[in-house]
Amino acid sequence: MNQPDNLQTCDLCGSNQFSVISEKDRHGSSLTTGLCNGCGLVSHLPVPSEEEVSAYYAKDYRRDYHGESSPSTRRIMRAWNNGARILKQLAPHIPAQTDVFEVGAGIGCTVKNFEAAGYQASGIEPNTGFNAYTRDTLHADVTNTNLYDLESSSDKHVILLIHVIEHFSSPTRALSHIRGLLKEDGLLYIECPNIAAPFATFGRLFHFAHIYNFTPNTLIAMATKCGFEVVEKFTDEANPDIQILFRKTIVPENFQINTEEAERTKTAIYRYNALTYNLRPAYLQRRICKLLKYGNEYLKAGAFVKTLEARFHDK
Ligand SMILES: [Zn+2]
Repeated sequence: MNQPDNLQTCDLCGSNQFSVISEKDRHGSSLTTGLCNGCGLVSHLPVPSEEEVSAYYAKDYRRDYHGESSPSTRRIMRAWNNGARILKQLAPHIPAQTDVFEVGAGIGCTVKNFEAAGYQASGIEPNTGFNAYTRDTLHADVTNTNLYDLESSSDKHVILLIHVIEHFSSPTRALSHIRGLLKEDGLLYIECPNIAAPFATFGRLFHFAHIYNFTPNTLIAMATKCGFEVVEKFTDEANPDIQILFRKTIVPENFQINTEEAERTKTAIYRYNALTYNLRPAYLQRRICKLLKYGNEYLKAGAFVKTLEARFHDK
């Protein structure tokens, strides 16, 4: 199904030719998702404006996404462990005491992990929901600021973008702005879902908050176009998460898009879609394991967070 959409041009390659790949979100509500025929980038059709995205976050995000207005102990424990994993992955690339800045810092657990390891860690988080917890309990240096309100300082060594790039109205604009914040040779770590190896069945993939869905190749193409080169990939093609460390480099004068990527992405998505039925037993088994893990997390999280909060009390 092709949908020429003259009102929209692809954020990666500028094409206005899209194939519709889904018309429903994960709850069965109407949401059109398209794949760019020029480069394979998957996005909402149409892409919401910055204003629409801001309005969505201000009102609905926390409720729609998590059903919480302050973080649960389980959420804090998972965020903390995730931050510890990212610190371990990146530490070999970052000299001691370097500054590390997170865009979209959430609760602040990753920033706090880096701070506790001796880095000068700080961040920004546009959503106000968990700000009080971050500031008053975790004592993490996270301010309620929008990315585009930061001036191009060209002084930061490391920027983290963890499950954030898929939420921007224009990833090109976001990455270009981030490049302006980084010093020469500065590092950018990006983590986001992998549409070519989805974490869920096809019918449950799409969500208003995820405006873009990347494959490792479309993410690398996007970063290359905006003036970054790959330093290390931490996950393979089959992993549901993309985790790549980039370095600031020159913006290519004639950026060439790989047009085969559109077909490759389409094949990956449809192969997965067709496999979904056959994979049901494995999927159900994964669900059961996940539910058992959740139960276990509920039991542990209370004590875990109590210890964590005592550790940062008065700091
Ligand atoms: Zn495109």
